[in-house]
Amino acid sequence: MTALSLNKVVKRYADLQVIHGIDLKIEPKEFVVFVGPSGCGKSTLLRMIAGLEEISDGDLTIGSERMNDTAPAQRGIAMVFQSYALYPHMSVYKNLAFGLETAGVSKAEIDVRVQKTAAILQIDQYLQRKPKALSGGQRQRVAIGRAIIREPKIFLFDEPLSNLDAELRVQMRVEIAKLHRDLGVTSIYVTHDQVEAMTMADKIVVLRAGRIEQVGSPLDLYNRPVNKFVAGFIGSPK
Ligand code: ADP
Ligand code: MG
Repeated sequence: MTALSLNKVVKRYADLQVIHGIDLKIEPKEFVVFVGPSGCGKSTLLRMIAGLEEISDGDLTIGSERMNDTAPAQRGIAMVFQSYALYPHMSVYKNLAFGLETAGVSKAEIDVRVQKTAAILQIDQYLQRKPKALSGGQRQRVAIGRAIIREPKIFLFDEPLSNLDAELRVQMRVEIAKLHRDLGVTSIYVTHDQVEAMTMADKIVVLRAGRIEQVGSPLDLYNRPVNKFVAGFIGSPK
């Protein structure tokens, strides 16, 4: 069964159409990377999948269910934002626990899941700290932990590393790839960084002005870009 599919998905903001009929299938455990220039609609697509933005037209199917009108919390999806989306006044523990508390999970179960998540991300020694007392990389791990702890079927990452320095970006890229191998959760990862796309993706989706230019493996796109735009974006010599 396909993990997620988009069928002729359209987004309009009043008179302005920004997504023009996207068709896409994502298979279970796939790591799919959306690339494209600023303003091409990457975040809008993720937000529609997450349920943070209404779909104007077309269908979103997750598993076997049409989910256009399903509440975000019921979609089995967790979104990772840039690390500054942490709650600054809460401890790391609270940041991790918060989503589960509001979902009515018991304190004992929350504690088990916080400890497990913190161990996976190696942030166990920082649970009582506030985000401002952490490094950029540690904060980003907490942001990822907040998604993992919900045990979602699908992860959405919206340029999660874009405000980290270059060295940390490389390190976190490797860690996210490892996490994906270990947990096997279907993932969509948005970036405008070619290297991230080429090294992390099973499948790359190249977007331009609200349309898909090409979908394929990194090697496919590199060797057989359909046009100059894709070639330029992927860094292919053609
Ligand atoms: P990306 O994430 O690829 O940079 P976005 O999805 O943020 O692009 O934006 C796609 C287009 O939709 C842009 O032209 C942007 O200006 C427009 N847009 C995004 N959000 C809104 C909004 N709330 N109202 C009107 N236009 C929007
Ligand atoms: Mg964006």
